[in-house]
Amino acid sequence: MAQQVQAALFTYSKVYNLLTKEEFINSAKEGKVLARKCTKCGHLHLVTTYFCQNCGNKGFENVFIEGKGSVVTYTIITVPPDGYEKYVPYAWVVMNLDGIDLRISGFMSNIQSPADLPLGTRVKIVGYDERGMLIEKL
Ligand SMILES: [Zn+2]
Repeated sequence: MAQQVQAALFTYSKVYNLLTKEEFINSAKEGKVLARKCTKCGHLHLVTTYFCQNCGNKGFENVFIEGKGSVVTYTIITVPPDGYEKYVPYAWVVMNLDGIDLRISGFMSNIQSPADLPLGTRVKIVGYDERGMLIEKL
């Protein structure tokens, strides 16, 4: 369990440190995901990179992706990190965004067991706070 949390937190910090954090947060509050799109091949990146991971191009533009999709996997947190006791039980969820090959992770409250959240459940991004990206059922 602890290792999975560490992995999730690593992904989280990697994304949020490298993107323009404020823009990313503001778009999340509007239910959207800010991504960087290669101007040559259209490949999408969640992190700011200097070269496209697909074609090596150096040009990017910001795109705002609708924050709706399906649950791919998740970890239910029953032993929270310091300061998160009040949120238990919750799940750290990986969702696949609709229509594109891009996954993003975030927080879902009130998930106690796998029965509460079958894989493939339709979800949406609803905000952002100290917990990171906030996800709810559609
Ligand atoms: Zn490219």
